[in-house]
Amino acid sequence: MSDTCIFCKIAKGDIPARKVHEDEEFLAFHDISPAAPVHLLLIPRHHIVSMAEVTQKDAGWLGRMMILASRLAEENGCRPGPEGGFRLVANAGADGGQEVPHLHFHILGGARPWQGRM
Ligand code: 5GP
Ligand code: ZN
Repeated sequence: MSDTCIFCKIAKGDIPARKVHEDEEFLAFHDISPAAPVHLLLIPRHHIVSMAEVTQKDAGWLGRMMILASRLAEENGCRPGPEGGFRLVANAGADGGQEVPHLHFHILGGARPWQGRM
């Protein structure tokens, strides 16, 4: 837990968020400024800055987080199957465009605003 981290504050309940999932390890909520019809943020409850910091010891919870992301995408409006789908984005560091320094996955779906760009 970091005293100054927005996402730690959301995880603690000190800042409100539109939560879609909560368990002992993870929290998922709607992005405050959605970039797609479905735009969720999935975070671990414990404070870790980014994917640039992870090591082998993080493999277990990271694997569970990726599997949860896939489930949450489908439960929250991303169409299933090859004609639907979603994007899973993890920005890391300044060159990665990361603004909030608490590791998070963006789950984006419901449209293809990125088509042709990446
Ligand atoms: P990053 O650029 O760090 O990968 O993404 C941070 C994301 O967090 C942005 O998409 C931004 O809209 C979202 N965000 C920033 N502050 C808040 C907040 O207080 N509540 C919620 N729900 N989303 C936030
Ligand atoms: Zn944090």
